[in-house]
Amino acid sequence: MPPGHGHDASRGTGRLWSVDEHLDDILTTVRPLEPIVLQLLDAQGCVLVEDITVPVSLPPFDNSSMDGYAVRVADVAGASEEFPAVLTVIGDVAAGQGEQPTVGAGEAARIMTGAPLPPGAEAVVPVEWTDGGLGEGTAAGMRAHSTAPEGASGEVRVYRPAEARAHVRAQGSDVRAGDRALAAGTILGPPQIALLAAIGRGTVKVRPRPRVVVLSTGSELIQPGEELAPGQIYDSNSFALTAAARDAGAIAYRVGAVTDDVEILRSTIEDQLIRADLVVTTGGVSVGAYDVVKEALDSIGDPDDEEGLGAGGGVEFRKLAMQPGKPQGFGAIGPDHTPLLALPGNPVSSYVSFEIFVRPVVRALMGLTDLHRTTVRARLTADEPLTSPSGRRQFLRGRYDADAGTVTPVGGAGSHLVAALAQADALIVVPEATTSVEPGTEVGVVLLG
Ligand code: AMP
Ligand code: MG
Repeated sequence: MPPGHGHDASRGTGRLWSVDEHLDDILTTVRPLEPIVLQLLDAQGCVLVEDITVPVSLPPFDNSSMDGYAVRVADVAGASEEFPAVLTVIGDVAAGQGEQPTVGAGEAARIMTGAPLPPGAEAVVPVEWTDGGLGEGTAAGMRAHSTAPEGASGEVRVYRPAEARAHVRAQGSDVRAGDRALAAGTILGPPQIALLAAIGRGTVKVRPRPRVVVLSTGSELIQPGEELAPGQIYDSNSFALTAAARDAGAIAYRVGAVTDDVEILRSTIEDQLIRADLVVTTGGVSVGAYDVVKEALDSIGDPDDEEGLGAGGGVEFRKLAMQPGKPQGFGAIGPDHTPLLALPGNPVSSYVSFEIFVRPVVRALMGLTDLHRTTVRARLTADEPLTSPSGRRQFLRGRYDADAGTVTPVGGAGSHLVAALAQADALIVVPEATTSVEPGTEVGVVLLG
C-alpha cells in the first residue's frame, strides 16, 4: 500500500488535525539547509554560521576626519583671527596615498578626509579654521590645488589652536584585530554586510536561501496574458505563492499550471526535484474526481516503486480543523526526501495555507529561529458579529489599524475572494471554540507585513 493511504490509522486521512498539530508535524520534520560559502551580497538575509573575527584593525591607520591641514600642536598654540599661525604648506595628502611628506616645525600638509596622518603631524585643523591656503604669499588656493594636486605649496594661515589628535580617527578606534565582528547566528542585513566588507571579507559561510518550486494544478488554468476560453480561469496561485515564497526569503521558481493528469504531474514534479529544497503545489487535494496530486505523489514517494524516485517518505493527506485550508498534504518525496506541501486550490485557501504553514518552513530551512508572522491583539470593528464554524480555526482577511488598535474584516469568508485578499494586510484569527465574535471584542491578528 502506498504511503499516505492510512497505513497508520492514528495518522492519515481519518481524523481531523488541528492547525497546531499539522504545523508541529511539519516543523519537527524540516531541518535547516547545510551551510554554504556565498559571496557577500548573495548572503543578504541569510543566517551566519561562523563567528567572524576581525583580521585587521579598523581604521587600519590614523587618518583625518576632515578636509584641512595636518599640523604640529605647538605650531598652532595660541593662534587666533588676529594672530594666525602662518605655516609653510609642504604638500598634499590624499586618501589612498601610500607615501606622505613629514611635517616639520612650522610646516603643514594639506590633508583630505580619510587620508593617513603624515609623520610629524599631531592634529588636523579643518579647512574652515584656516584661510584655505589663500593667504598672502600663497602660491595657489584650495580650488587651484584640487586641479593641480602636486602644486600644493606656499602658506596657510590657521586661526585656531588644535589639541593633539584633534580630527584624527585613531587606528583601531572602530574595531581591533582579533575582536569578534559578528557571532554565528546573526542575520546578515545591510549593516552587517557593511562590517564584513569593511574588514575585508569577500565571502561568508551561511545557510542558503531555500529553493522553492511552486507548481499549480488544474486543467482549467491558463497563464495570465493569454486569451480566456470558456471554462478557463487564470492561474493566480502560482504567482501569489512564488511572490510569497520570495517574500519569505526563498529563491522561488514558478513552474506554472500543470494539467490534471497523474503522469504529467508526476513527471513534472520529478523533473523539478533537482532544483528544489521545498516543493509547493496547489489544487487537486480535496476529494474529487480530478484530485490527481495525491495519486501523482503517492507514486513518487513510494519506496517500493521501482520506477519512482522515492526511497521512503511519501506525502500524507489530511483534513485540518481550519477554514479556509481544510485539505492539506505534507511529506517528503524523491531520493533526497525533499519536503512537499500540497495546498488546496482555492486562491485564498492556498495563500492562507502558505502564510500559516509554508512561510515557517522556508524560514526554518534558512536556519532562522523566528519563524512566524507577528501576531497582535486588536479590537474588531464591524457592523455585525463575525460568525465562524464550530471546531475550526478561521482565518478571515482584515485591515489592521495600528494607531487605533483595530482590525476590520474585508470581504467575506469565501475562499475564492481574491479581490478582498488584495485589500487585506492581516488575518483575523477566530479560535476553534468561538462561533461568534461581537464588534468591539479583542481578536488575534496575524500581520501580513
Ligand atoms: P481544487 O483544489 O483543484 O479543486 O481547486 C479549488 C478551486 O480553486 C477551483 O475553483 C479551482 O478552479 C480554483 N483554483 C485552483 N487552482 C487555482 C489557481 N492556480 N489559480 C486560481 N484558481 C485556482
Ligand atoms: Mg483543481
